[in-house]
Amino acid sequence: MRKVIGGKSIGGLAAMLPVFGAAGTCFAQRTQRAISDAPLVSFFYEEPLWIFCGMLAALLLGAVAFWRCWRQWRSKERRLRELLAHDRYTGLRNVTWLEQTGDALVRAHGGEAARMAVVVIKVVQPSIITATYGREALVTLFQRLGERLTGESWAALVATRTNAAGAACLTHPVEREDLQVALRRILADSEYLQVGHMLVRIPLEAGVCYLGAPPMDLNTAINNAGLAAQEAQPLCFFNSALQRETLLRSRMESLQQRALERREFHIWYQPKYDLVTRKCVGAEALVRWQSTELGFLPPGKFISLFESNGFITQLDFYNLEHVMQFQRDCKAKGLPVVPISVNQSRLHMREKGYLHHMRALVDRYTTEGIELELTETAFDFGSEAIREHSLAVVTALHAMGFAIDMDDFGSGYSDLSLLNQLPLDVMKIDRSLLLASEGSERMRIVLKMMIDLGHSLGMRVICEGIETEAQEELLRAVGCEYGQGFLYGRPMQRADFEAFLRAHA
Ligand code: C2E
Ligand code: MG
Ligand code: MG
Repeated sequence: MRKVIGGKSIGGLAAMLPVFGAAGTCFAQRTQRAISDAPLVSFFYEEPLWIFCGMLAALLLGAVAFWRCWRQWRSKERRLRELLAHDRYTGLRNVTWLEQTGDALVRAHGGEAARMAVVVIKVVQPSIITATYGREALVTLFQRLGERLTGESWAALVATRTNAAGAACLTHPVEREDLQVALRRILADSEYLQVGHMLVRIPLEAGVCYLGAPPMDLNTAINNAGLAAQEAQPLCFFNSALQRETLLRSRMESLQQRALERREFHIWYQPKYDLVTRKCVGAEALVRWQSTELGFLPPGKFISLFESNGFITQLDFYNLEHVMQFQRDCKAKGLPVVPISVNQSRLHMREKGYLHHMRALVDRYTTEGIELELTETAFDFGSEAIREHSLAVVTALHAMGFAIDMDDFGSGYSDLSLLNQLPLDVMKIDRSLLLASEGSERMRIVLKMMIDLGHSLGMRVICEGIETEAQEELLRAVGCEYGQGFLYGRPMQRADFEAFLRAHA
């Protein structure tokens, strides 16, 4: 079956052909003629050469268009790759690039790769630096540090990660001692920075992880060096103990949620005593983790991890509810009800919905006999606005009926203005101050002045960590009325504490 194509559309096709120049014009004329007196198919049979040329030209045109698109796409891709390989603040290479490029370098070194290392340098408390001097200060610091590292003969690849306040470097094979000396020098030289008219000290910490044999992958080495940097004062080499610690932390992290559901967290109670009557006048609730997989874990093993991953906020609510329920049970059983303090992490101060959640608990139970312990670090977030917010949160908690304890007072920088700004009921003096007072008359004077200050601001004052009669005597002499410590009782399980209450309250 033959189909005749209308002269109009073929004419349109022919009209397009002049773009091919003279040959095109000729082809167009012939095509027009052919269309006028013969069906299209016969034209194809009559002019195969022209048809072939036309198709070839169209093909060429298509190929040129395709090539141009491909080139544009390639250059865009190259630009994107460049962007992805650079730290957008310093303009220097970033850690992603270091990982990608470093692999080949490590392979090229063969057996020598065991002596290659990853160095991670970080700013200590970057949020405070950014809040005080602005991000520009960090950017300048890392630009300088990056350039300095690049100039070192042992540095193979250097990268910065300004938004994580860190720099990383993959070294050539280098001896540990040489690296140690060089890094100490770099840290000392780099931590001073001119910001405007001021010379500012920005403390740095460095962690090092050797790749070992067979060499570990770079991502792991960077993580390990980062972990070592956290332990650094100011320089730390990653070792097997840190590795075990890392493994434990990652196991704890993967088990934390299930542990909460399985009720593996237990509250232990440590009595608080009246130093004069020597009677139990309260207790502190302290959490322990009885893990099916990891065994018994004291809070020193997991609190800092849960603070860093945020899980502590859930755990604190769980503990608080547990203690509120305990108080309700004591009342129901006719046991003496003494105030119990519960630790609250600093993270709650910036947690959305914290007050709402606390309100719901208060509505379900009561704040009677519940104290909340906060440390100074809860108000140590750098910016004035955040500090103001924290103060408002504590004021709201107090208004709900919770008594507020200032925990570990005297262990940090002891911001006395906090005592004035916060609605505090109890000052808990840190054990370190008690220990320092034992050996120093001057520290005893400081301790006494702190206790007097607490009293004159209307607070009850309790000292933590009393282990000996001599310490108790010292505290009585300086006017402290309450104490907590192994001398009176270690943290104990619920049943033991109930028995303790019957005997001592
Ligand atoms: P903290 O709140 O300052 O608790 C006092 C710590 O001192 C407890 O350690 C207690 O067992 C210990 N201690 C008490 N008396 C003595 C003593 O006479 N000598 C010595 N050397 N130590 C004594 P623990 O139970 O290991 O708790 C450590 C820290 O973990 C607590 O310090 C607190 O900051 C945190 N923590 C414990 N439970 C919780 C919790 O439920 N939530 C939060 N956010 N933190 C908690
Ligand atoms: Mg406490
Ligand atoms: Mg304490």
